[in-house]
Amino acid sequence: DRGHISAFILLYGLSYFSSDLIPPGVCNILNPSTIYANNEVDLDKVDIYGFDYDYTLALYSSALDRMIYDKAREFLVKHYKGISKYDYIPSFAARGLHYDIQKGLLMKIDAFHYIQLGTVYRGLKPVPDEEVLELYGGTHHVPLQEVSGFYGKGPVMKQFMDVFSIPEMTLLAAANDYFNSNGIEYDPGHLFKDVSDAIGMVHIKGYMYKWIMQDLEKYIIRGDETYAVLHRLVSQGKKLFLITNSPFSFVDKGMKYMVGKEWRDFFDVVIVEADKPHFFNNCGKPFRRLDGNGDLQWDKIRSLDKGQIYKQGNLFDFLRLTGWRGSKVLYFGDHLYSDLADLMLRHGWRTAAIVPELEMETRVVNTEQYAQSLTWLQALTGLLERMQMHRDLESKEVLQDWLKEREEAVTKNLFNPHFGSIFRTCHNPTFFSRRLCRFSDLYMASLSCLLNYDLSYTFYPRRTPLQHEAPLWMDQLCTGCMKTPFLEEMAHIR
Ligand SMILES: [Mg+2]
Repeated sequence: DRGHISAFILLYGLSYFSSDLIPPGVCNILNPSTIYANNEVDLDKVDIYGFDYDYTLALYSSALDRMIYDKAREFLVKHYKGISKYDYIPSFAARGLHYDIQKGLLMKIDAFHYIQLGTVYRGLKPVPDEEVLELYGGTHHVPLQEVSGFYGKGPVMKQFMDVFSIPEMTLLAAANDYFNSNGIEYDPGHLFKDVSDAIGMVHIKGYMYKWIMQDLEKYIIRGDETYAVLHRLVSQGKKLFLITNSPFSFVDKGMKYMVGKEWRDFFDVVIVEADKPHFFNNCGKPFRRLDGNGDLQWDKIRSLDKGQIYKQGNLFDFLRLTGWRGSKVLYFGDHLYSDLADLMLRHGWRTAAIVPELEMETRVVNTEQYAQSLTWLQALTGLLERMQMHRDLESKEVLQDWLKEREEAVTKNLFNPHFGSIFRTCHNPTFFSRRLCRFSDLYMASLSCLLNYDLSYTFYPRRTPLQHEAPLWMDQLCTGCMKTPFLEEMAHIR
């Protein structure tokens, strides 16, 4: 036995040469403009393409996050003077995190509702693991009824998913930090509400719209690619529609900038101020028509016509008036809950999620450092699994070391230094990841990824073996993955 484990100790000693463990050929560089499939989608069968506007058709630069933060902080300073010295921290937060409203803690939760230790922050400071366990009654599991709420708003936890979430989380952390580091007693529940009201004011008072409209060039990125996508779809006979919560004047200005004055010619139906997610799940609000000046008309809506602008409405009327049902419709949105969840769960449209974070994360996954860390992590896990029955003292010590190293070998720091990847905790998919798989057929970094594929392309999800299944097929050779486009093959396209 001892001899046995000694051989592994030798291997363990070689851990830092884990590059030797990486099988040849797996280090193909993934192209960040790949479209990934959770579910099979044949574009040939998709006749109608629908879009959300903000962060889907119009991608905004990160300069906008700082503007939102600064303006919201301005509102907040009226109540809490001390936070004026907290400047925006660009890489602090990550999308999909949960916030415990009563405890004032920001954290990452995995697909099984466990808090990832090491990713819990009170204000700007990490909370030690022992304290987290104490705060959650000796476990780091968060009960379903606290986290879930269909749109990410449980009674105790809020999941940050939308446009404003990065500046909002950063401001929350800054405000909590101000009270904590000055030893001022406060109610985290009240603070949460004040911060979320301040962020809300930036929206309600139209600041975001104003900034973007005043400097489209600064805030809207990759508009020409949006034009290219829409142009290509229309020229191949596809029908297009737009359902956005934003007002017409704002969308019109942005679309004129990206697509041109005649952008409305591309779309068969345009719906603004739709009030998603209610648009998708509540049949209460009728459609209204806007005239050329953006004024509301009183006529009854009997059809949704090209060239017209509609406001509000609901999906039930939309389906009745257009007849666009089922999987011939593919809808693109960036918000998993308010854009995609109802469509997937209730209405059977195909859905595509825009996840801009993929671009940065793919870049990390492509590094040699990541490949090595991950390979070593897997090797260690394999060693632990096989050697765990050795109970003698020396073996136990080695196993302990391996366990410790396995926890430290994580790749977290390669991504966001505080919270890691938005898709994975150390050993599991994140809560965000699980929702992404559940609510989207396809996902991609931006709409422009579509330019890399023929419009009769079929996306096949990778068949990863279930836990009880034997891995009978080679990952890189299985159906679909043959067609996973790698940089070299796609160089001619972009
Ligand atoms: Mg959006």
